[in-house]
Amino acid sequence: MNRRHFIKQAGVGTLAVGSLGLSTQAQAKTRYRWKMVTTWPKNFPVLGTGANFLAQLINQMTGGRIRVKVYGAGELVPAFEIFDTVSRGTAEMGHGSAYYWKGKSEALQFFSTVPFGLTAQEMNAWLYHGGGMALWQKAYQPFGLQPTAAGNTGVQMAGWFNKQVNNLEDLQGLKMRIPGLGGEVLKRAGGTPVNLPGGELFTALQSGTIDATEWVGPYNDLAFGFHKIAQYYYYPGWHEPGTTLECFINQKALNKLPKDLQSIVLNACRVANQQMEVEFTSLNHAALQTLINKHKVDVRALPDSVLKKLYQLSNEVVAELANQNHFAKTIYNSYYRFRKQVIQWHQISEQAYLNKRSQFN
Ligand code: CA
Repeated sequence: MNRRHFIKQAGVGTLAVGSLGLSTQAQAKTRYRWKMVTTWPKNFPVLGTGANFLAQLINQMTGGRIRVKVYGAGELVPAFEIFDTVSRGTAEMGHGSAYYWKGKSEALQFFSTVPFGLTAQEMNAWLYHGGGMALWQKAYQPFGLQPTAAGNTGVQMAGWFNKQVNNLEDLQGLKMRIPGLGGEVLKRAGGTPVNLPGGELFTALQSGTIDATEWVGPYNDLAFGFHKIAQYYYYPGWHEPGTTLECFINQKALNKLPKDLQSIVLNACRVANQQMEVEFTSLNHAALQTLINKHKVDVRALPDSVLKKLYQLSNEVVAELANQNHFAKTIYNSYYRFRKQVIQWHQISEQAYLNKRSQFN
């Protein structure tokens, strides 16, 4: 190769690199303005603020290349329309929980929580390393959505009761606000499940329209003031043992982003997932102290006989859900295979340790 030819070649090479560089630069300058619609009232503690945290994180991590604006329930669309809104691409992101979309498919409830199902730690293990996420992606793919886990409540409380629960008979005719699969289980145990939005719970319990209600855990429950109108605070939250919150993203909008921004968005969701779980853990134990020490709340365990019956009925209800269609069965099989194995491991690890630590404390 003569010198002149080499320089020419090099020049072409430089030009190619230059134009590539320019296009990368142009890409780096592109600004994206995204909307995140949520099922939560604006700034609702932990859940709504968890959505805000995720949006801020994306803004910061991308240096402002993506700016996400968060909309509370009803601001842009009503809470339960966010799934379709993001599916259509009217907003790029949605923040909620998969059991709200059971109207699309009952099996989606596995990606939130099921009675006597996985804890937060186990749920994340199933999603990230046990095949759960691939199934979730497959479930949302027909809607043009990419799902991500974006938070977890941890084990919830069984709820606030104005009647004691000492045996199965005490559930007969019990009018309780408890949505979803937990409600179906209560119904089979002889109770009357009622579904009411959070904002109406205080009045319904105070007026005696309902005898009991579940909500989340000490932090959110204290904020609602249930201790002022209910006598007993029962545990554990058998019906919601580790509810996963989600952020789903419009797939076309995600695909339009350069690869680095796609990675940031997906990994920011992962950070938000961890953030909410530790936030709940931290806030709940502090709120529990306030409920017990300041408000003298009567905190009680549901009796074994009651929990055992609820456990049997839960297995029935979840198995029926699995038998609705082939895909539901596939999700169920994956979830319950994982559950069976993790129970065996956690019996001699987390559970064995926690039992002894409490015993000697
Ligand atoms: Ca709940």
